[in-house]
Amino acid sequence: MNRGLLTVLSGPSGVGKGTMYSRLLQRMPGLKVSVSATTRKPRSGEIDGVHYYFMNREDFIRRRDEGAFLEWAETVGNFYGTPKAPVTDTLDAGGDVLLEIDVKGARQIKAEYPDCVTIFVLPPSDAELERRLKGRGTESDEQIKARLALARSEIATSGEFDYRVVNDDIDVAVDKVMDIINSVKGARKC
Ligand code: ADP
Ligand code: 5GP
Repeated sequence: MNRGLLTVLSGPSGVGKGTMYSRLLQRMPGLKVSVSATTRKPRSGEIDGVHYYFMNREDFIRRRDEGAFLEWAETVGNFYGTPKAPVTDTLDAGGDVLLEIDVKGARQIKAEYPDCVTIFVLPPSDAELERRLKGRGTESDEQIKARLALARSEIATSGEFDYRVVNDDIDVAVDKVMDIINSVKGARKC
């Protein structure tokens, strides 16, 4: 059996990765979700085990040291990690997985799985990224400042990624990611 395709959707906080991720999962029901672990506090409406596995730093570090994460990163003051077993089990069984993770995590995945496809989501402009982060209304002004500063340095490294997609019109951006996944899968079957 062929191993499944691992696709990594990354890019700065607030660019719209989460929004694109849920639309992609609706439109490509064959794709398997990965639920990340995080030490961040749940936002209103977020459900443990659905949006994230919420845990304290001690538990996260213990799980990390046990090797339970495929990749992990500390970003904007919190730990985030991808639980390993669900992803590797799916890929081994021929299923395709889509990860939505930060740039440091995407780099680790590419180093470990060079066959994966990495996609960097770009904002149409810096001003629009700021508008989206503020509009989401989930971070303090200070946290938004930190996320914007990080975004600038992340965007500077976007050339490392296999593909770059601008998230201006959400439908166009989602179509582009779907085209990338379908064309890579098509090429691998040849
Ligand atoms: P991320 O997961 O990258 O941090 P989100 O998916 O939470 O970003 O999106 C940040 C904000 O931007 C949300 O309020 C979302 O509704 C909005 N957003 C996402 N994509 C677009 C888009 N193409 N045009 C306008 N607003 C968008
Ligand atoms: P948020 O706090 O807005 O949900 O996420 C902040 C950042 O963490 C986003 O860029 C998001 O993509 C990233 N992130 C979410 N889950 C993971 C993960 O499992 N690993 C890594 N490295 N980053 C993640």
